[in-house]
Amino acid sequence: MFTWKLGEIPEEGLDLKWKEERASLLAYLRDLSRIDFDFETPLQSEAKIKKAGGLVFITGKVQTILRLQCVRCLKEFSYPLSTPFELTLHPLKEAPSEEETELGSEEMELNFFEGGEIHLSQIACEQIFLEIPYQPFCQEECKGLCPICGKDLNLSSCECVKEELTSGFPALKKLKLD
Ligand SMILES: [Zn+2]
Ligand SMILES: [Zn+2]
Repeated sequence: MFTWKLGEIPEEGLDLKWKEERASLLAYLRDLSRIDFDFETPLQSEAKIKKAGGLVFITGKVQTILRLQCVRCLKEFSYPLSTPFELTLHPLKEAPSEEETELGSEEMELNFFEGGEIHLSQIACEQIFLEIPYQPFCQEECKGLCPICGKDLNLSSCECVKEELTSGFPALKKLKLD
């Protein structure tokens, strides 16, 4: 994991660029139990870091290509991603109580710095999580799989869909005839 010591950030600020390989990212995702996606390319990040008034300000950009699974047709597809971000980090209290320690989830830690270090890998990964669609589609018009025969309807249509559609609207047909 890529971290940076606060004491090593000069007054005028710091410009960083770094790259993390798929293997180390996957190890991190496994720790978080977040393995519902994969990286096709390394994660490339850049950040401008500045200290002021006891806070740390970061503006930066993350860029990678993810491998996601379409929720409609279950096919895996490439998802290029490039997103800017802006964060303000607050110092975490010196001696957190037991309750606060238990609360220490990834999000909780994200906007804090602790022990004089900034966890840049974690910050970069969190930006990626925020950009992953809740329901990824391989294409906007993905037709999905037939619920009856399981055929990928993007590749070919099947008979069962037509049958279901026509038998699904008998009342409507009658209405129109009357
Ligand atoms: Zn799809
Ligand atoms: Zn079918």
